[in-house]
Amino acid sequence: MKTDLKPELVTMSDEKTSLMEPTEAWHTFTEWSDTGVGLTWKITRMLESVKTEYQQIDLYETEGDGKLLVHDGAVMLTERFESQYHDALVHSAMLISPNPRRVLVIGGGDGGTLREVLRHPEVEVACQVEIDDEVVRIAKEYLPTMAKAYDDPRVDLVIGDGLAYVRDTEPDSWDVILVDSTDPVGPAVPLFEEPFYNDIKRALTEDGVMASQIADPTFHNDHLVTVIKRLEKIFPQARPYTAPVQMYPSGVWGFALVSKGPDLDTVDDERAMVIERDSKHWSRETHASSFGMPNWLRRKLL
Ligand code: SAM
Repeated sequence: MKTDLKPELVTMSDEKTSLMEPTEAWHTFTEWSDTGVGLTWKITRMLESVKTEYQQIDLYETEGDGKLLVHDGAVMLTERFESQYHDALVHSAMLISPNPRRVLVIGGGDGGTLREVLRHPEVEVACQVEIDDEVVRIAKEYLPTMAKAYDDPRVDLVIGDGLAYVRDTEPDSWDVILVDSTDPVGPAVPLFEEPFYNDIKRALTEDGVMASQIADPTFHNDHLVTVIKRLEKIFPQARPYTAPVQMYPSGVWGFALVSKGPDLDTVDDERAMVIERDSKHWSRETHASSFGMPNWLRRKLL
């Protein structure tokens, strides 16, 4: 059930106004961390605002970062910095996998993760399971640099719950699984819990690799530590890694990499050279440095 909400944004002059129409006056959108730190964009226009069965989806045009996609008040991406996140989520896992022929993406409705997966020539099937078809519609209408991925014949787009899909998929059937979900709110909550991770382990091949977005290592490091310790109990190798992501309040994002077989430190050099040549962010250097953690976080992870 979708209703069109016309949310109001606080203008610089503190009046409230609907922004569905273009306006000269600057308006702002701020994502606040829970410690009162915020990241603010100047908004020139609101392009979409829909309440779906799963979330409130708002799409803005910003002054300097292109379009800004927000789900339930949390920034998903900006056009300017989305590749920092998608490079980090995708390429290490894909290049640790010895042969990423079958890749499963959970979430990722904007198409950015899928776009990066499809850059790997070994991929034969890229199945994406996104629960909310409105995210795909909005991406196709407004975010073509990401949603163009859906045109690739190797893509199988499933609109459904990733939790159920992974539970029901064939064992030993996926070489790489990438979890590009929203934060642990609503339908994404179980995507950070043990039953889901046990199902992922069963769904991965013996050389299977999984990467997942987890949390902001500054403001939500407890969640990051909890999830990593959960993964360490289930997989033979499980490690946190981070990447600079300048569209999120602390400018850094935390991910998890797990492997049923291949060594997480080792990427396929030959394939990596090709990927890094055309990547905006990912390289073998950023891969190696992504595992470096500040001492205070390293100690929490022990
Ligand atoms: N790629 C973006 C980024 O840069 O952070 C954000 C990820 S994408 C927008 C997150 C997606 O996860 C949303 O579209 C949401 O609908 C989807 N999602 C949440 N829970 C899900 C579930 N249980 N199954 C499938 N998709 C889910």
